[in-house]
Amino acid sequence: MTELETMADSGLQQQYAALSRQYDEFKAKKLKLDMSRGKPCSEQLDLSLGLLDCLDRTDYRSADGVDCRNYGGVDGIPEAKELCAQILEVGTDEIIVHGNSSLALMHDLIVRALLHGVPSSPEPWKALPVVKFLCPSPGYDRHFGICEYLGIEMIPVRYTPEGPDMDQVEELVAQDAAIKGIWCVPKYSNPTGITYSDTVVNRLAAMPTKAPDFCILWDNAYTVHHLTETPDRLLNLLTACKQAGHPDRAFMFSSTSKVSFPGAGIAMVGASKTNITWLKKQMLQQTIGPDKLNQLRHIRFFKNRVGIEMQMRKHAAIIKPKFDAVLSLLDGTLKDSGLASWSRPVGGYFISLNTLPGCAKKVVAKAAEAGVVLTAAGSTYPYGRDPEDKNIRLAPTLPPLPELKQAMELLILCIRLTSTEQEMT
Ligand code: PLP
Repeated sequence: MTELETMADSGLQQQYAALSRQYDEFKAKKLKLDMSRGKPCSEQLDLSLGLLDCLDRTDYRSADGVDCRNYGGVDGIPEAKELCAQILEVGTDEIIVHGNSSLALMHDLIVRALLHGVPSSPEPWKALPVVKFLCPSPGYDRHFGICEYLGIEMIPVRYTPEGPDMDQVEELVAQDAAIKGIWCVPKYSNPTGITYSDTVVNRLAAMPTKAPDFCILWDNAYTVHHLTETPDRLLNLLTACKQAGHPDRAFMFSSTSKVSFPGAGIAMVGASKTNITWLKKQMLQQTIGPDKLNQLRHIRFFKNRVGIEMQMRKHAAIIKPKFDAVLSLLDGTLKDSGLASWSRPVGGYFISLNTLPGCAKKVVAKAAEAGVVLTAAGSTYPYGRDPEDKNIRLAPTLPPLPELKQAMELLILCIRLTSTEQEMT
């Protein structure tokens, strides 16, 4: 029961008039705020300024003596592989450190699978009349964008508090050979903030699939992005897959985009030796090698895993107050109202907010009309279709705290206004 359902018609009308006045006052302020994308703020970017001058004219060789100024080394320099292997918890022969974007690695993997198949494929995926992917939702819009762009049919999968609904996943993959993969953001998920439980990881690794070349695209983008001193723990998918007899099922990705610089970080993929050998061969058709100087810069600047962890604590110190501000404004105004519910993430970049069914699009449109850009409603679902029109992804990191508070006040007002409007009709 929502707080509105208990109100008489006259009370609802009075409330609607008062909220409308407040909304008009907000509009008059002519705000121009953006809470739409999970980007670090400039204070966070400043943490990595040392990357810009940590190499000098004499420092361009990797640990094995290779001149990083020149072509070569498609799988990365040894010390970058060592560091990234620690991040993904794989062996140094189970990793490729590549360019600046993990999303590009994911996109290219799927294109390769379509054109040639992965090592466990009986034929290229494009030989099939249709290729399908499971999409736990709400999820990351750019994953869904890749599928849509490449003509892969998306099947939404429900979320539970432990990760994707594994009963649904197991049933689907057991009966349909066209289902070739599943998208997973397994830690501090985008946008739900969920970290997959051990049971979910083990079930994903062990489940029988009709497609012999079923792949798990394990986008561990937020693996080191904790907001508290008691981080979530995630089971290692590759180890679980090896134990379950499916070593080639796992493709694990990450990058330093939100550790150092988005767009100028280093990206990595971890997988079985068979998959890594195959990927390296494929990549050599695409490039003579990645930007090794940037890999060297990251090594000089962070040094090791401890250096990364120290950096992430500094990030958390900047962004945790922003998450806290959003949560405390929501708690202070909408808690127990029945008009919305929201996640309380302990890591990652997002808060996932659910309005009453049928309200999200209107809330986002109203906020935009008053000068606050939110992630488009629906974008956290395949094809931009949120079946209940209720999910909104909040990205608190980019705006300065005072602006963030203003944006949240407006958002809360828009939720109240839209819910009241809906109750009145
Ligand atoms: N994966 C997830 C889940 C993300 O949220 C993002 C960025 O927001 C990315 C990947 C992008 O990663 P990259 O910068 O390495 O391409």
